[in-house]
Amino acid sequence: MRQYMGSDKRTLEKIVCNQCGQELKLENGIVQEGVFSGDARWGYFSGWDGERHSFDLCEKCYRRLIGSFRLPVTVEEETELL
Ligand SMILES: [Zn+2]
Repeated sequence: MRQYMGSDKRTLEKIVCNQCGQELKLENGIVQEGVFSGDARWGYFSGWDGERHSFDLCEKCYRRLIGSFRLPVTVEEETELL
């Protein structure tokens, strides 16, 4: 869950893990630790027709989530780190 500040609401003020409620570290609006940001736009044939869902998970909760998968996530090496 993200909160923005400023008149234009573009500066990131706070990120909270939707799963555990932990606030993630921010410095000058830039997150300083691992975060997973989910964003789903649901359309026809779904149970949430026309809705957009978004959420954030801290690294610990992301690890727990992918640990519950029947198939592992696809892992590739990144040459440019964020
Ligand atoms: Zn969490």
